Amino acid sequence: MPTQTDPTRAGARDLQVIPREAHPISRRDISPNALRVLYRLRDAGFGAYLVGGAVRDLLLGGHPKDFDVATDATPEQVRGLFRNCRLIGRRFRLAHVVFGREIVEVATFRASSDDGSGEREMHEGGRLLRDNVYGTIEEDAVRRDFTANALYYAIEDFSVRDYVGGFADIQARVLRLIGDPERRYREDPVRMLRAVRLAAKLGFTIDPPTAEPIPQLAPLLREVSSARLFDESLKLFLSGHAVASFEGLERHGLLPALLPETAAAMRANRSGALRRMVLAGLRDTDARVAADEPVSPGFLFALLLWPAYCRALMQLQAQGMHTAEAQRRAADRVTVHLLETIALPRRFSLPMQEIWLLQSRFSQRKRVGRFLAHPRFRAAYDFLVLRQAASDEHAEDVAFWAEVLKHPHEPVPPPLPLDEDGEPAPPRRRRRRRRGGAPAEAPAAGAPAADAE
Ligand code: ATP
Ligand code: MG
Repeated sequence: MPTQTDPTRAGARDLQVIPREAHPISRRDISPNALRVLYRLRDAGFGAYLVGGAVRDLLLGGHPKDFDVATDATPEQVRGLFRNCRLIGRRFRLAHVVFGREIVEVATFRASSDDGSGEREMHEGGRLLRDNVYGTIEEDAVRRDFTANALYYAIEDFSVRDYVGGFADIQARVLRLIGDPERRYREDPVRMLRAVRLAAKLGFTIDPPTAEPIPQLAPLLREVSSARLFDESLKLFLSGHAVASFEGLERHGLLPALLPETAAAMRANRSGALRRMVLAGLRDTDARVAADEPVSPGFLFALLLWPAYCRALMQLQAQGMHTAEAQRRAADRVTVHLLETIALPRRFSLPMQEIWLLQSRFSQRKRVGRFLAHPRFRAAYDFLVLRQAASDEHAEDVAFWAEVLKHPHEPVPPPLPLDEDGEPAPPRRRRRRRRGGAPAEAPAAGAPAADAE
């Protein structure tokens, strides 16, 4: 079959219809509210399709977390059909049909190939682009990113409509950009992160022509808003596939663009301990997500930026700065640099810094009761355990605090020697190290090199 050569329809092929009996999508797996929306649009005479990640995940046997609908009805027409509907967006208006806590997003087919983030609504001089907004279903398919994300499940006959070869790519578990990869990445650099993230999430391979331009184009991520990079980071690392995401970012040369300080600090750390620590933490994060346990962005970023923090701390100490002061400065410096790339809100950056700054209290073993009552104690302790996983330097501290946690209301356990205040004295090993000056490379995952007084 001939493929389309019209450049405005780059990537589009002839329509393939996969009938109900040839695919596994069952209405039982679709949210009842999404079905309601689809049926009502159909009954009003409009085309109504489930689209995007939901179709992809259903074809893979997964359970989509949200269901997006595409239609040829305009947003106003959609609003006319649903009482529980609100319109959002300026240039490209979307309809949100609200069912309690579930929102079904209904988008009119569109032709333009922006990223849907709303960032490109305004052009030079603040001119609002209004031309060429709505389109056909075929145009809607080719403006999407990957072929696997551009399939349409039609409520009319329960078939899957495929304009870009996505059905075959899903069977082959391949992630392939629609159209010319370099052009699509320049249009929206976040697609590079999406490639790595979706490959990690789905266990897909990235088609070589889709993967090939990424390392060179990675610096384009600097043009992306920090708010969007924050959202994308949470999806990369808090969706249960953080290890695969991190390794994918490394493999495709994206880590220096997304987390420049972390990438640099890991490169400088010849023993590899800092990288081991990050990976151990991400493995832990994945296990928590799998067990439905809470994961916090503050802890995540404390982990991702720990190499950067250790390195900054070491540099400040090498300049002769007092340890406690160096810790505060290092935390601030790393946070300020992070914000240039990723807009981590203060409600997460403050706990991140606290987790770092509390680390030195574990080896001091002073004012145990007060430390236990600190609202961030648990997070800081979990962080210490991770550091121990990557280097056994902290075994004694972990053992001590694990014992304290077992009997939080009892006096501090022996056999630690007590100092003149009756508090357990810090281990002598640390005192010796403090005299030795700064180590030559970023310390083992065990850094900070010396602890606060
Ligand atoms: P997830 O399962 O992580 O939500 P998703 O593919 O559903 O993955 P969304 O961000 O929810 O991702 O986007 C929904 C759909 O919108 C995608 O499947 C894709 O068709 C389209 N899309 C999203 N982001 C882009 C983009 N940057 N460029 C082109 N199309 C995009
Ligand atoms: Mg989605």
